Amino acid sequence: MPELPEVETVRRGLADRLKGFQINELKVFRERAIASPGGSKVFIKMMRGLSVGSWERRGKYLIGNLYKGKNSQEQSPRSKNSFGLWVVHLRMTGQFQWHAKKTITCPYTRVSFWNQKGEELRFVDTRSFGQMWWVPPEIAPEDIINGLRTMGPEPFSNAFNTSYLKKALKGKKRPIKNALLDQTLVAGAGNIYADESLFRAGILPQTPSGHLKEEAIKKLCSSLKEVLEISIGEGGTTFSDFRDLSGASGKYGGQAWVYKRSGQPCRKCGATIRKNKMAGRGTHWCPSCQK
Ligand SMILES: [Zn+2]
Repeated sequence: MPELPEVETVRRGLADRLKGFQINELKVFRERAIASPGGSKVFIKMMRGLSVGSWERRGKYLIGNLYKGKNSQEQSPRSKNSFGLWVVHLRMTGQFQWHAKKTITCPYTRVSFWNQKGEELRFVDTRSFGQMWWVPPEIAPEDIINGLRTMGPEPFSNAFNTSYLKKALKGKKRPIKNALLDQTLVAGAGNIYADESLFRAGILPQTPSGHLKEEAIKKLCSSLKEVLEISIGEGGTTFSDFRDLSGASGKYGGQAWVYKRSGQPCRKCGATIRKNKMAGRGTHWCPSCQK
């Protein structure tokens, strides 16, 4: 599943590729890909003719600004031509593809968008859990998208710090690994980066959240940011079937400390990396480096 660094990589690709993109035509191949009220009927009607401006990311959600008419580049999200938001969640296997020339639509194509030149932005999703919304200008996206309403702070924001995490974890019995996967605690972290940041912080994933001392929480905060930053720099992970708009996978993976390395020697101390299931997800750790 794409996590924060992969979604950020896709965001950058969309921002770059869709500069000045005006939706001349669009087609929905799979109804369940459209999650906004009114389904594909309203989605198609409202999105046709709009131009795509800047892209933001909130947790694992992609948020595109839409405008009436052309020249979306020069407009701010608060301009009078602003015409709602295009929100996308990739879920398990959703990916965007850019096709400058007309190509055959693959069977997993869920939604396609064309500009006047016939260039196509294609949303492909094998498992078909990915979702997109058209959010009307008068409505806040949090009002119709539950995941956005309940989402915790961004890991890179000022709101995510030691005192916030200490307060949020206080008295909690659930293992810290499970807590990190909870999007209401912190946005965007997932299995890979939870395991990697716990290794970096020297914390056993099974540790009850409320047992962590302030020093460990401080380390965890900075470790999570570091791991995410490194992976964003690599264009996302090599694991899973994540692809950016040009069809390339990320490069983060070669340097993973524990993730998908069970049975192999720890890169730091040589102990054998262990693996177990936690919260239904494969969890990897070094029994010697993590206490
Ligand atoms: Zn080790």
